Amino acid sequence: MKYNIEKVNQIGKMVAEVIEEAVRQTEVERVGIGDVEMAMRETLQAVGQSALKQFLEDAHGELETEIECVCGGKLQYQRCRAATIWSVFGKVVYKRAYYAGCVCRRGHAPVDCRYGIEPGKVTAGLAHLIALSGIKESFEEGRKWLKEYLLFEVSENTIRSETQKMGARQRQADQELVKEMQDEKSLQQREQNRPVACDILYGSIDAAKVRIEPRDPQEKVLENRETWRDLKVGCWYEGEVVPVRQQSMRQKEKVQREGVVLRAKNKKYFCDIAEAKDFGKLLWATGCAAGADRAHRLVFICDGAVWIWNLIDQYFPNAIQIVDWYHAADRLKRIAEEVFSTLEERQTWLKQVTEDLWQGKVELVIEACRPLAKKSKWARQSLTYFCNNKERMRYDQFRTSNLLIGSGIIESGCKQIVSQRLKLPGAQWILEGAVLTAKARTAWMSGEWQKLVSARSLLPLAT
Ligand SMILES: [Zn+2]
Repeated sequence: MKYNIEKVNQIGKMVAEVIEEAVRQTEVERVGIGDVEMAMRETLQAVGQSALKQFLEDAHGELETEIECVCGGKLQYQRCRAATIWSVFGKVVYKRAYYAGCVCRRGHAPVDCRYGIEPGKVTAGLAHLIALSGIKESFEEGRKWLKEYLLFEVSENTIRSETQKMGARQRQADQELVKEMQDEKSLQQREQNRPVACDILYGSIDAAKVRIEPRDPQEKVLENRETWRDLKVGCWYEGEVVPVRQQSMRQKEKVQREGVVLRAKNKKYFCDIAEAKDFGKLLWATGCAAGADRAHRLVFICDGAVWIWNLIDQYFPNAIQIVDWYHAADRLKRIAEEVFSTLEERQTWLKQVTEDLWQGKVELVIEACRPLAKKSKWARQSLTYFCNNKERMRYDQFRTSNLLIGSGIIESGCKQIVSQRLKLPGAQWILEGAVLTAKARTAWMSGEWQKLVSARSLLPLAT
């Protein structure tokens, strides 16, 4: 929005005068800039409250004696009735025209309707900030942070409810997308619009455990206390070359070794606590939205769990499948640690097999593991793993094609949602709460937050 700068300067001058007066009257010996800033924040907050009140009270326009009700009946003007809202400036009480008296017993305040205000509730602007703290910190910690930022108290319950409302909106968007991408007509329409296809699109999927604990003690007994559920997380992204001036030391070394270093961009995360079958539908829908069905090359980099490859085979049978390099190499490290007693033996073996794996010579890696299978359970398991995933480990070919081979994006995604939020101290989840908080957080991580905020402002009001 554009502001009249002259008027803003006038207000600024008035605020400065208020602060000067307050400073003159204070008994503190030396007033620093921090004190001035705090005084100014408090003053501007009061100015905001006053301005918002006046704005809403002036906004009703012409008063009518009678208006039409949504049911088709008639509403009569009653009087100016007071309403309370919680805004980014704190509590604001304002008076607005109120209509009632219809046979359906509904009441109506045009100003509330026009601005998407729910009397007695949090405004869209404040909900945005509250939910932002709710996806980042435990609700208890968020309460403390918000007080510093907002200069007033918000309860833990409000933070929980606003965060989860944001998640509910993301869930609704997910459901609508799933429906759209299963509908033959919508799919054809997309085809006709011919959206631009990207050259290489990547997908990664992983899962992390979340502890679900019913809040109700009776329910706890019934459900046999806590349970662990898999939060499945997926991400669509593209790769780009890291510019020289942005390369870290580690990346510079990598460039020397490998010639090029790639990083992910345009990351779009999605998640759910659901059976693989239902998660597959979300995978397909978000994939279509990201252009997976049109990309020249579609590449999946995953850690190797069977349910994940099955979903990929089912929905994107033509995709290139890659086992995350770090998971594969780490297996070799663990085998070496389990089997060899001296450091020298361990290092000699490990150096050779890691190099073979790097060159995509999986057959040689398998041969090197085979004699160790008798001695180590881990080697036995890995033997099966390398045999089953042979074609997903042709790292030489993948590197020649300039493809990413690490699934760091999805691991970081799981970490941001699970370790850094759902597993924070003090976090106790019922299934619904965990899912909604996770979904709200993925919206933030994917740069889709503003869409959810706007969706809230446009929410149809229950009257
Ligand atoms: Zn009515």
